[in-house]
Amino acid sequence: MIKVVDLYKSFNDTEVLKGINLTIKKAEVTLLKGISGSGKSTLLSIIATLQKPTTGEVYIDDILVSKLPDHHASNFRLEHIGFTPQDFKLIESLNGYENCQIPLIPLGFSPTLIEEKVKEALQQAGISHKASLNVKDLSGGERQRVAIARSLVNSAKIVLFDEPTANLDRKNSQNFISLMQELKSKEKTIIIATHDPIFEECSLIDKVINIEDGVIV
Ligand code: ADP
Ligand code: MG
Repeated sequence: MIKVVDLYKSFNDTEVLKGINLTIKKAEVTLLKGISGSGKSTLLSIIATLQKPTTGEVYIDDILVSKLPDHHASNFRLEHIGFTPQDFKLIESLNGYENCQIPLIPLGFSPTLIEEKVKEALQQAGISHKASLNVKDLSGGERQRVAIARSLVNSAKIVLFDEPTANLDRKNSQNFISLMQELKSKEKTIIIATHDPIFEECSLIDKVINIEDGVIV
């Protein structure tokens, strides 16, 4: 379902990803591990269609998404991908509820359906009680949970999480694992970039990919 072929990514003269090949099957939960600077976030954002590779391809369900023009990539992403970026990318002037509405507005859903989906996602991420507060007034862990909720609202079949527990305490990290179990039971395809040991002994992980200096080892 996700296929990455001979993928390279450079920024100026620095090569960050150096020939990545991987295949992830539908409904698989994959852990992407590697030390800071190894290229996890870059790889995840290319799979999420937010960046283009320098060379190489990303296919999702046989669609060559890495070559889609930006507006097509954006439409594809809205419909098929949920993404929690490492730095959240929340809109500071909006509250949690409004941040979660954003991916749904271009999809043309009715206000009632938008409300239903946003409320469900906020509840799944365990942040409903803070949804009316401006995200700039939330703690790191609360902001992280708003970003997680936003990645769930479009009910995408592929959900990508970049260091999703980095700001969460143990209880909220356990809640995140329960959420992963729920998503897995719905046959979502999930990639989690992390070095959090909480995932090490976790039965829901189907595959571990180790990345080191832009190469899968
Ligand atoms: P990780 O998520 O594993 O910590 P990243 O993908 O964020 O790794 O970064 C890998 C390397 O790519 C780092 O050395 C980082 O500085 C560099 N890098 C990432 N994004 C950019 C960018 N937009 N411009 C220049 N260098 C970048
Ligand atoms: Mg990163």
